Amino acid sequence: MKRFKKVLIANRGEIASRVIRACKELGIKTVAIYSEADSQALHVKKADESYLVGPGPISGYLNINRIVDLAINTGADAIHPGYGFLSENPKFPEVCEKRGIIFIGPSSKTIAMMGDKIESKKLMRSVGVPVVEGSEGGVGSEEEAVLTANKIGYPVMIKASAGGGGKGIRICFNDAELIKNFSLSRSEAEKAFGNPEVFIEKYIEKPHHIEFQVLADNYGNIIHLGERDCSIQRRHQKLIEIAPSLILNDELRKRMGESSIKAAKACNYRNAGTIEYIVDKNLNYYFMEMNTRIQVEHPVTEIVTGVDIVGEQIQIAMGKELDIKQEEVSMRGYAIECRINAENPRKNFIPSTGKITAYYSPGGIGVRIDGAVYKDYVIQPFYDSMIAKLTVSGRTWEETVRRAQRALDEYVVKGIKSTIPFQLKIVQDEDFLKGNFDTHFIDERLYLRDYKLQKDPFDKILAISAAISAYYGI
Ligand code: ADP
Ligand code: ADP
Ligand code: MG
Repeated sequence: MKRFKKVLIANRGEIASRVIRACKELGIKTVAIYSEADSQALHVKKADESYLVGPGPISGYLNINRIVDLAINTGADAIHPGYGFLSENPKFPEVCEKRGIIFIGPSSKTIAMMGDKIESKKLMRSVGVPVVEGSEGGVGSEEEAVLTANKIGYPVMIKASAGGGGKGIRICFNDAELIKNFSLSRSEAEKAFGNPEVFIEKYIEKPHHIEFQVLADNYGNIIHLGERDCSIQRRHQKLIEIAPSLILNDELRKRMGESSIKAAKACNYRNAGTIEYIVDKNLNYYFMEMNTRIQVEHPVTEIVTGVDIVGEQIQIAMGKELDIKQEEVSMRGYAIECRINAENPRKNFIPSTGKITAYYSPGGIGVRIDGAVYKDYVIQPFYDSMIAKLTVSGRTWEETVRRAQRALDEYVVKGIKSTIPFQLKIVQDEDFLKGNFDTHFIDERLYLRDYKLQKDPFDKILAISAAISAYYGI
């Protein structure tokens, strides 16, 4: 094992701060990079050294050669990619490897393989991990799309093979919708991900999004740290994540955990990764995709298992052998994470920018903040709108929900609009407290949907069924 003396963080925002915290606790020096727009950012202030990379607000964070040069020139041993930006670009670890810098993550080959949703599904199917029914591979024409959809039955989803962040997903209920959406999806995918390839999947109704966290060292040891339920979503993007799931029993957890380890083995996984599954009403589970990086919602797992996942990522990359055995992993209590976004929920979640004129973050028992803002910080329009994550923990589900309500109520962010009031409405919902939720939770609640101005195709159906339910009192 070679201890790192210095790590460069190729990211910004809360995840850059999170990595700096882990490095400090391990006695490792940190190098931050930033754009001009980010000169006042927290990660710049907290790192031991910070370097302006440019030009422009984004390109410096994406400039592989420049970042690797900087790592070498500053004497860093390794680079942590965070999430987003270069974290799932297979070129990044490839260049790192060539230049003798350690990339804190899996190999270039693994990233390339699992970043392609079609290829990864094929691999999973071949090793016996259940996958969602759908096209065998990419679907190149409308005719092929219609044939596939009729074979598996409507509704279906069109997904971009290179997709991520909830983008490029369309639900279709019949041939006409499929034909209408097919070419739109392809051009959207091309624009967003530089790859037009799309595929078709059976649309699972009223599902849960359940994902398993895995850790794999360089010596073939692989463990999982249990699951997260990320079903509270808006437009296929996660808003609230919890651990453990309220719907899994020990037997299912064990089976899904074993599938996850099998999945990680199949792609020669190394470092921390997440296997995402969709779970239907009858508790059948299907592989959706693997994220080959640290995930936004890792804190809920850290809280219930007590494992510092980012710390483990760094130590695995140093060549340390995993010292946690599967049978030693257990989840205690519950954790709920709320993503706090600088968006106006009353105006269709339009990003909100400008100066934060007052900031008070909640505290007290069972409250954790992973944030990147402070009073007088100016939120820029160029970046992801997530500004902080509030994670609460408790011994029971009810205690944890009450704590989330209390903490969100304490939270003060002035000068910009945030999703705090919207998050508070969710955790105050009786069904949330009862654990009655799936990925439609927000769409099915008129008072939450009222926040939106634009409607998606699902709205009409759900509005009618909600009206009927309300009329009959069911
Ligand atoms: P997580 O998968 O960690 O739960 P998200 O799906 O919200 O979280 O993704 C984390 C970040 O990475 C977001 O900023 C998202 O926009 C970005 N992201 C994820 N996948 C991609 C992708 N394929 N291309 C570009 N950005 C992505
Ligand atoms: P991304 O790469 O954008 O994260 P995912 O494939 O993980 O895309 O899907 C994002 C979300 O869309 C999931 O969390 C889930 O809520 C929903 N979803 C994805 N696939 C299906 C499916 N086959 N049936 C129903 N919902 C799905
Ligand atoms: Mg996903």
